[in-house]
Amino acid sequence: MKKLAIIGSGLSGLTLANRLKNKFDVTVFEKSRGVGGRLATRRAEAYAFDHGAQYFTARTDAFNSFIQPLIDEGVVQRWVARHVEINGVRIVKRSSWETEEPRYVGTPGMNSIAKRLAHDLDIRTNTKITSLVRPKEWQLEAENGAIQDHYEWVITTVPGPQALALLPEKFTHQNNIRAIEMRGCFSLMLGFSEQLSLEFEAAHITNSDISWIAVNSHKPQRGALYTLVVHSSAEYADENIDTDRDVVISHLCQQVTRIIGHDTNGAQHKVLHGWRYANNRDRDTHRPFIDTELRLAACGDWCLGGRVEGAFTSAQRLSEALMKS
Ligand SMILES: Cc1cc2nc3c(=O)[nH]c(=O)nc-3n(C[C@H](O)[C@H](O)[C@H](O)COP(=O)(O)OP(=O)(O)OC[C@H]3O[C@@H](n4cnc5c(N)ncnc54)[C@H](O)[C@@H]3O)c2cc1C
Repeated sequence: MKKLAIIGSGLSGLTLANRLKNKFDVTVFEKSRGVGGRLATRRAEAYAFDHGAQYFTARTDAFNSFIQPLIDEGVVQRWVARHVEINGVRIVKRSSWETEEPRYVGTPGMNSIAKRLAHDLDIRTNTKITSLVRPKEWQLEAENGAIQDHYEWVITTVPGPQALALLPEKFTHQNNIRAIEMRGCFSLMLGFSEQLSLEFEAAHITNSDISWIAVNSHKPQRGALYTLVVHSSAEYADENIDTDRDVVISHLCQQVTRIIGHDTNGAQHKVLHGWRYANNRDRDTHRPFIDTELRLAACGDWCLGGRVEGAFTSAQRLSEALMKS
């Protein structure tokens, strides 16, 4: 079988690997120590937080078919939350996700989906790819200097700006990828010793440095300890991505306290994660980027405006194109 390398083990990379593994000899390279990328769950002390994707919807038949076995296995479940929209500090709309389109989460954490999809795949974690070279077939150079050899095809599934750094200048779609902008996000994880009495489990917020608050522990199978996950606005993250983390934590805690009316400074556990490339600036859609001459391709949620379902669809489209190649 021809050898194919995939860079990144987020939902795009894992979807591709599973769809292509019968046609190619597939190896996945992942810089982190675990799989999942932005389908991320962090465990700290006895607390658990989904600090990347919060939930997802399923709007296409293909994605519904993809998640159905995961639902049957209990790896994906519906999250039925009380949802509010908050303008500044005022609730302007209330709804229940019981009666709206289903919102899904991985169980017991968002990264459980990735762990399930990673079964039976050849995944090299802790391997950050730094460059691609091609004397004859593709070689991948890793951060530690190791060379991964002889791949007929290389597919990158990393966020667009990171893909640009890996793909050679002569890759035909460099300019198209450069035009797709991604934005940052801070994820503040708060663990409490006692429950807070809130009017919601999921809140979207506008006109604030905060864009989202979730009672993470309300999601199915999250355990007994009460946790909040708070996301900053993209504007705040982009302006402060290099600001001292204690300053960011203090500012975001102050903002959340104003919104929910409970002092979050008393949280038992407080930790911050900064995502430089969290979501797309716009919702434009692009086909996956394939260069058949160089045998290089790029895909990911950022080709389809961001989001979990976009990551799947982008990978699905690319796998269909490669199956025909
Ligand atoms: C804070 C936040 C909130 C979000 N909320 C939602 C939400 O509520 N609903 C929703 O649908 N979507 C949400 N998203 C978006 C969702 O998480 C993504 O759409 C989806 O997870 C992207 O999957 P992916 O495989 O395309 O990319 P990623 O998950 O980013 O996967 C790329 C992988 O490549 C690895 N990598 C990067 N560079 C290298 C390298 N040089 N060598 C090796 N490996 C490398 C990374 O470590 C990562 O594992 C959110 C994202 C963030 C960050």
